[in-house]
Amino acid sequence: MCLFAAACSAAGENAANKAATPKDETADELRAMMPKLERFFSPMGQPASFDWLGAYKEPGQTFEEYLQSEPTRPTAERRTLYILPLGEFTPRHKKAVDLSAEYLTAFYGLPVRRLPPKKLPTAAESFRQNKLLNRKQYQTGYILQEILVPSLPADAAALIAFTAADLFPDETMNFVFGQASFTQRVGVWSLFRLAERVQDDVFFRRTLKIAAHETGHMFSIRHCTKYECVMSGTNHLAETDRRPIDACPECTAKILWANAIEPAKRYEKLAEFAKKHGFTEESKDFQAKSAAITAK
Ligand SMILES: [Zn+2]
Ligand SMILES: [Zn+2]
Repeated sequence: MCLFAAACSAAGENAANKAATPKDETADELRAMMPKLERFFSPMGQPASFDWLGAYKEPGQTFEEYLQSEPTRPTAERRTLYILPLGEFTPRHKKAVDLSAEYLTAFYGLPVRRLPPKKLPTAAESFRQNKLLNRKQYQTGYILQEILVPSLPADAAALIAFTAADLFPDETMNFVFGQASFTQRVGVWSLFRLAERVQDDVFFRRTLKIAAHETGHMFSIRHCTKYECVMSGTNHLAETDRRPIDACPECTAKILWANAIEPAKRYEKLAEFAKKHGFTEESKDFQAKSAAITAK
């Protein structure tokens, strides 16, 4: 979830398919919906120096700015989200990937498909032995360019790979949580550090947040600075943990517009997902949001 700059450096880039029509009826409906959702979200407070916004000055992005940015969005030809498991998984890691696939289906209203798992690379330039940590780490750039870009299906809106291995971007950094190329619509995320020393519910929520956040970037949604939101940048796991699994009114409007989904039905599907998997608070919250936006 953009835990380091390397993970988010390409967030502002735009892919080639420009389909924005800033003045449309859907946008008007979404403008009317946004105030009804405000009470469910906390405004972004003053960041601590070690928080994302303490470290990086970002302007945020309103719904209007998003529409004007000619965002990348799914097209008729490219509307499937792909998930690729990379390397070996424990049952716990596997469950996190399964939940993410299901969550993305409801969150973006797009079909999600799993690609057959691939093995971790063995080429000498694809990994290093981190002596300090006494563990093997895989290089994100190698995975993106040598494994994911060649695997990207023609109908992919985006391809997200999950691995249980630890990752690093380059020799200047000790590790990285993940990295994406938004222009190439591919990203790789490690579950390794998300799962360490926490209960399943915390680990699973972290994974859902990362999946939703990174896919949002694939649709040109920039970091949110207005609310505590799943699209806000995070600099450390405590910051990730205090963020909701859902997107704020502005970011939700972007998601609904980009993917042409019906707002109340989407919340109901999200409520169903949350209930089924024991995220009780979130389930009630999604249900309340559905009711709030349908109320006259
Ligand atoms: Zn990000
Ligand atoms: Zn937001």
